[in-house]
Amino acid sequence: MDQAGMTTLAIRASETLPPHVRESLPQDFAEAVDFHGHLCPGLTIGYRAANIAMERLGVRRGSDEELVGIVENDACGVDAFQLVTGCTIGKGNFIFRDYGKQSFVLVRRTDGRGVRVAMRHDAFPVDREFATATTRDFDPSATEAERNAARERHHQRAINLLRLDEERFAAVSEVKVELPSKARLFASVVCSQCGEPVMEARLRMRDGEPCCIPCSEQYGRGWEING
Ligand SMILES: [Zn+2]
Ligand SMILES: [Zn+2]
Repeated sequence: MDQAGMTTLAIRASETLPPHVRESLPQDFAEAVDFHGHLCPGLTIGYRAANIAMERLGVRRGSDEELVGIVENDACGVDAFQLVTGCTIGKGNFIFRDYGKQSFVLVRRTDGRGVRVAMRHDAFPVDREFATATTRDFDPSATEAERNAARERHHQRAINLLRLDEERFAAVSEVKVELPSKARLFASVVCSQCGEPVMEARLRMRDGEPCCIPCSEQYGRGWEING
């Protein structure tokens, strides 16, 4: 039981790190590691991008400023970016663009002023020794020592990225962004096929009756794949 009297099911990933690694991480980055589940260079990219963008915009975490995050990838760093900026998919102030680029944009809703942080192509060079070590980490015949060495190298790469000079890490630019209107609340309607409530804006029609998207796309019943 934790202090709130709730059973904690989570294992904090940051606490499983070797002490010398754990102690070198800023507290909010350790929280990002906990949320993401491991320490990795990708997480570091999103963490740094979020901090750089917030600093440039002059906003702080938890301030009243209404922010919108736009990410151009769906890799590890997106978790840190959401945690640090408070722009989350659930809150509706988060936009995902599937460009496969390590770029992150943070926008102030009031005036559309934004900052785009794009990782430089040479900020995270290929490390052949690391590539070999990582492959070894997945190799069932690798020894415990080899596995630990691979992990150590992975962590070290993340920490190096954390400490890299900002100019060498990313190109930062001011952008002006036209934002879509704020997420609205929609009424929900019961699907005529599966009986589950569906947000009105996502309804489809089938045989003149309202239904959810999975029910509209197949003659089975949504998730009952074997049904
Ligand atoms: Zn990761
Ligand atoms: Zn349905």
